[in-house]
Amino acid sequence: MQAITFSRPATFALLLAVLAGCATPQTRMPTVDSAAMQEETRKQREMVVEDYMNSYRRLQAVASRIVMSGTELCAEKVGPYYGLTAWSREDFGKEWHDVVQSRFSVSDVASISSVAPGSAADQAGVKAGDVVLSVNGWTPPAGKGAVDKLMEKLAQEGKFGMPLEMVVRRGAEEVKVSMMPGQACDFRVRLSPDDVKNAYADGQNIVIYKGMMDFFHTDEEVALVVSHELAHNAMKHIDAKKTNAMVGGLVGLLLDVAAAAGGVNTNGDFMRLGSNMGAGVYSVAFEQEADYVGLYFMANAGYKIDDAASFWRRMATTNSRAITMKSSHPTTPERFIAIETTVEEIRQKIGSGQPLKPELKHASSEMAREEVQAIPH
Ligand SMILES: [Zn+2]
Repeated sequence: MQAITFSRPATFALLLAVLAGCATPQTRMPTVDSAAMQEETRKQREMVVEDYMNSYRRLQAVASRIVMSGTELCAEKVGPYYGLTAWSREDFGKEWHDVVQSRFSVSDVASISSVAPGSAADQAGVKAGDVVLSVNGWTPPAGKGAVDKLMEKLAQEGKFGMPLEMVVRRGAEEVKVSMMPGQACDFRVRLSPDDVKNAYADGQNIVIYKGMMDFFHTDEEVALVVSHELAHNAMKHIDAKKTNAMVGGLVGLLLDVAAAAGGVNTNGDFMRLGSNMGAGVYSVAFEQEADYVGLYFMANAGYKIDDAASFWRRMATTNSRAITMKSSHPTTPERFIAIETTVEEIRQKIGSGQPLKPELKHASSEMAREEVQAIPH
C-alpha cells in the first residue's frame, strides 16, 4: 500500500530489496544430496502403492464376507463366485507402473490381488500374486483392459456345479487349479485411488474411495459402508433412479446422478455434480432403505452392528453441514436414530433365533393405501 507514494523505479527497487531481505534463509541448513533424494522419492512412491494395496485387500476381505453371506437378500442378483480379484500394472496410473512392477511384481498381465477366505479360489489353493496364464484353455490378454477381460471370462465360464480350470504362474512354477464356484451377490467391488471421503453404487459396482478407507477406524465401519452400497444395488435403486432421471431429461448426467443417488455423501462432492434434479424425488427414502437393508447384510456376514450408528456421529464431526442439511440424504441425526432402531430390531431377532431378513411392507396394506389415495379429496 505504501508503494503508491513512490515513483515506479523506486517501487521496483524497494520491492527487490524487500524480497531479497525476506527470501534469504538465515540458518546453515543441511544440503540435500540428489542421489539420496531420488532414493527417498522412490521409497515414498513405494509406500503410496503399498498403502493402496493394503486398503484394497482390506476392502476385498470385508466385502467378500458380505457378498457371500448376503445371497438371500440379493435375490436374483446372485451368481457363481470364485472369491478372487485381480489387478495389473494398467490399473495404476502410468507414473506408477515402474514401482508397481519392480517392487510389487505386478506386470501388464492380470495377477491375483486378493483371495477371499473360504471361497472357491481359497479352497483350490489360489494365492495372491499368482499370475493367470489360462482359464479353461483361454489365454488372458496383456495390456489395457487385461483385468476386465479376465473378469468377463470368469463370469462367462462360471457355472454352478462346473469346475473352472485355471493355470497360474507362482514364482518359477506353473500350477493347475480347479475351482468349484460358490455363490455370492454378483457385484464387483472397486477401490478408487482418489482421496475423497465417499462411496457409491451404480447398479453393477460398489465403489469405495481411498479417502473413505482412510477414514474407517474398524472393519465394522468398512462393512457398514460396503453393506449400504450393496443394499442400493440389491434393491435396484439405481435402475429406478435412472428411470426417474430419464423422466427429468437428464440423460447426460446419469452417471453423476447415479453417484449422487448411491453415495454415502460425506462431503457433498457428488451432490454438486448430480444436483439431484428429477432424480431427487425418492432419494431420501432410498438412502434410508440402504441404511436399513445394509444393516441386515452386515449382520448376516457376522459383523458386530452395535456401533453402526456411532459412525454417523463421527461423520458429522467431519461434515457439520450434514447435521441439519436435508438433501438427497437423510441428516446425520436422522441416520443415527434410525440405525439405532434397526440395530435393536436385529438384536431382538438374533436373540429369539429368527432369520435376519428385513421387514417388508405388507402387500395388502400397501394396496389399501393406494385405494385411499385414488379417491379424490
Ligand atoms: Zn447411499
